[in-house]
Amino acid sequence: MSVVDDVKSKIDIVDVVSQYVPLKKAGRLFKANCPFHDEKTPSFVVYPDQGTWHCFGACNTGGDVFSFVMKKENLDFGEALRRLAQRAGVELMRETPGEDAERKRQRELLATVAAHYHSLLKQHPAAQLAREYLARRFLKPETIETFELGFALDDWHATENFLTSKGFTARDLEAVGLVVTRDDGKHYDRFRGRLMFPIRNRHSEVIGFGARTLGHDEPKYLNSPQTPLFDKSATLYGLDLAQDAIRAQNLAVIVEGYMDVIGAHQGGFKNVVASLGTALTPRQLELLKRLTKRYALALDPDAAGAAATQRGLQVAREALDRKAVPVPMGAGLIGFESRLEAELLVIALPEGQDPDELIHADPQKWIDLTTHPEPLVDFYFRVLTQDLDLKQARDKSVAAQRLVPIIREVGDAVQRAHYTQQLARLVQVAEQTIAQQVAEKQPAPHLSARAAELPPKPTPWPVSKREEHLLTLALHMPEHLPRVAFLEAEDFADGETRAFFLALRDFAALFDFFDHAMFRSVLDESLHPLYDRLHANETIAPAVAEPDLAREIELAAYRLRAERDKTELGRLEVLLRDQAAEPPPDDAHALHARVAFLLKRVAETQKALSARTMLKSHAF
Ligand SMILES: [Zn+2]
Repeated sequence: MSVVDDVKSKIDIVDVVSQYVPLKKAGRLFKANCPFHDEKTPSFVVYPDQGTWHCFGACNTGGDVFSFVMKKENLDFGEALRRLAQRAGVELMRETPGEDAERKRQRELLATVAAHYHSLLKQHPAAQLAREYLARRFLKPETIETFELGFALDDWHATENFLTSKGFTARDLEAVGLVVTRDDGKHYDRFRGRLMFPIRNRHSEVIGFGARTLGHDEPKYLNSPQTPLFDKSATLYGLDLAQDAIRAQNLAVIVEGYMDVIGAHQGGFKNVVASLGTALTPRQLELLKRLTKRYALALDPDAAGAAATQRGLQVAREALDRKAVPVPMGAGLIGFESRLEAELLVIALPEGQDPDELIHADPQKWIDLTTHPEPLVDFYFRVLTQDLDLKQARDKSVAAQRLVPIIREVGDAVQRAHYTQQLARLVQVAEQTIAQQVAEKQPAPHLSARAAELPPKPTPWPVSKREEHLLTLALHMPEHLPRVAFLEAEDFADGETRAFFLALRDFAALFDFFDHAMFRSVLDESLHPLYDRLHANETIAPAVAEPDLAREIELAAYRLRAERDKTELGRLEVLLRDQAAEPPPDDAHALHARVAFLLKRVAETQKALSARTMLKSHAF
């Protein structure tokens, strides 16, 4: 039994759900007002026998216990697994208990030292400069409290001595990056005489520090080094405090510095996070993705800071490269374009003003800027041509060289055409010329035509579960994923396969090629066992010809869909029958409409299935 199955078998979904919402028994089921949307009559049902739940109201979604905890606590699959495993008393193999205890200890250490730095900032005479600095930046006491700002004494061993007195060892201090070890084995405090910014993960646990000098020391900002707990490229400062606002406003504003985040939050603009001075990384975007698909980068267009602008551009480019590559689509194939579309926007700040200065001086201006951020491509058009004389032939081709690759990456075909026209007008050449350049290097369409010509062969497939079967096919031939683009997360009843499907689909859409090792490396560790299992499945199917796989993956997807719809229809039938005795609830109409919708879809799915299986049987 896999760890996931083990956890599932030991966890009672009724127990878990009832922690969040009171459940009422109704026959063999349990009902409740949906914990995910506001309602007066309960349309949220738990099925203890199957270990699943479904909201028949506004959410119209469901899943297993993992999906429930993920949705409720805003966790990814691995985190939900860890949490439920702990609850079930199941040991996860990947992290040994020893390591687990060590991490816990390190987190305790960081929380302890953050509180210590904070009290030093508030009370210690040596922190006077730090307090003055914060007053100059107009920070209120409650803001300093919220972000738990602190002060590290200007001493080579003060932090070490404090933590040793609390029972932590030198090894602990080194593991979290608070001391620097010299060649001779002696160590000293990393942060001395600095203003301390605790960096938290999205669960509000301190994982590292940023530290600002109060004098003229270099560097101005010093961060914790990479540790098992702290990975700068996978962290966004302020995310724990910003996540609700980002989701509510459907926009994440990304700034550069700690003070920008703090100033914005103090000003009431809570959808702001900082990228910790690095170029925005795919893993940082990954953190935001579950909250919103709209990201606005606050960039400094200051001419004097041309380097900063260039860096900002590179930051944006990097994000664009990964997020907006169009999905190659053959004729008649549906791609993921609209689903994955991330909107990258730019907030061009007034010259020489940091976000936190601007927010303090002119909050309305900040509101205006963040309400109408500029699409990234428009920003490029402006910035990448400002040093050019577009009357000169040479500068015209420079402009095209700079902008064509950017236009090429625009996911939406209509927008791509729009920018092609715009560039043609800008450099005053025929649109056709630009269009040709944009079209170059487009990925080749798929071999769908060939698939139809070749006679299909039977596809024996030794996988028992439908969901795993589909995933095996998808992993084997990720380029055929666009054929089953209609699949939704809810087509997978199982939380693990669901998480895997979403990860696979997102990954496949990001790159023109599919690298198995790379996919496994970005996949959450909790999904590695499933990956390995599916990957092993793959190696026992070398005899299957490619066209069959293409059809097989469609068949598998339609079968999944059929199974899901039939299950839901059955449940709706029970629900409506139960309700016949009571006065009809407000949502009875919606339920009937859903039944009609599902009946229609089941018929369509059936048609799609028989069309494909008929093709198969003709060959024999
Ligand atoms: Zn709901």
